[in-house]
Amino acid sequence: MAHRITLIPGDGIGPEVSAAVVRIIEAAGVVVEWEEHHAGVRAVEQSGSTLPQALLDSVTANRVALKGPVTTPVGEGFTSVNVGLRKALDLYANLRPVSNLPGVPSRFQGVDMVIVRENTEDLYAGLENEIVPGVVAGLKIITATASERIARFAFRHAVDNGRRKITAIHKANIMKQADGLFLRSARMVAKEFPDVKYDEKIVDNACMQLVMRPEQFDVLLLPNLYGDIVSDLGAGLVGGLGVVPGANLGERSAVFEAVHGSAPDIAGLDVANPTALLLSALMMLRHIGERTPADVIFGAVSRVLAAGATLTRDLGGTASTTQYTDAVVGEIHAHR
Ligand code: NAD
Repeated sequence: MAHRITLIPGDGIGPEVSAAVVRIIEAAGVVVEWEEHHAGVRAVEQSGSTLPQALLDSVTANRVALKGPVTTPVGEGFTSVNVGLRKALDLYANLRPVSNLPGVPSRFQGVDMVIVRENTEDLYAGLENEIVPGVVAGLKIITATASERIARFAFRHAVDNGRRKITAIHKANIMKQADGLFLRSARMVAKEFPDVKYDEKIVDNACMQLVMRPEQFDVLLLPNLYGDIVSDLGAGLVGGLGVVPGANLGERSAVFEAVHGSAPDIAGLDVANPTALLLSALMMLRHIGERTPADVIFGAVSRVLAAGATLTRDLGGTASTTQYTDAVVGEIHAHR
């Protein structure tokens, strides 16, 4: 049976990497009816809105979307499409698996962790005020409801994926009330999951530990701001934003996306690396129950990367997006 999935190709390199991923998924035998919708600048030209209602309706109906990067013009009254999507669909959990890929150079090997970031509150509520000229206050909002919800998500994810330890990251020694509430919520939820180990680390120490002994971490649970920063730190441990996947998940809908941007400097040149969006698409396939094709594609990507003969420029090779995609498709066919 065909899966109906919303496809938001994005702009910049988005259409190129999306087309590559669609081709690879088809090569693995997954039948998908893609419902294509534009967001951002491309959508404004068509519908007057960066986040058209038709797109939101499509994701709500299909419950699953694959999204390429979307440019957010600086300072022109544009709100970020990504933030808009998260709010509109209540995608409260940001999930970022961080692990080494064969053939991808990185400072560490043996890294295998998942970063779970709360996506809806904290300093991202955007509540800032100039109280008197020269004095600005930004409000950090932490609620028990959102903290318990994200903690429960992290523990459930650990149980469902055979992970053994959750580390809650905080700064409750200074932000005693806000981060204190986040921690109390996490501790309460931890009691519901006696088989999963639970510990806590202060965010500055956690950052040091991450760049000294990343292999000690399994699942990291963080409020929004620390989660944003630590997610990119995590990507840096295994080769950068070009090779890590990401997903934003809610109770009803899930949006799988590359975490890198639209790379306007290389757009249209057929040199972008589609691996990050492809790995996000593999998370999506597993999410919709297509585990076997996801494993087949992962095997093919791993072999192409490990062989090192068809790498894109960002990984030190000379292959085009098309040549890299051809190589992955060739590996899939060779092993089917
Ligand atoms: P970027 O990630 O687009 O680019 C940073 C550098 O990485 C560039 O040199 C680029 O060429 C390179 N790069 C990124 N992805 C690559 C890929 N797949 N293959 C090869 N090289 C790649 O970051 P930026 O330049 O800060 O942002 C550009 C635009 O993207 C901005 O408008 C920003 O708002 C937007 N953005 C969107 C998302 C998203 O939609 N999820 C995320 C981040 C940034």
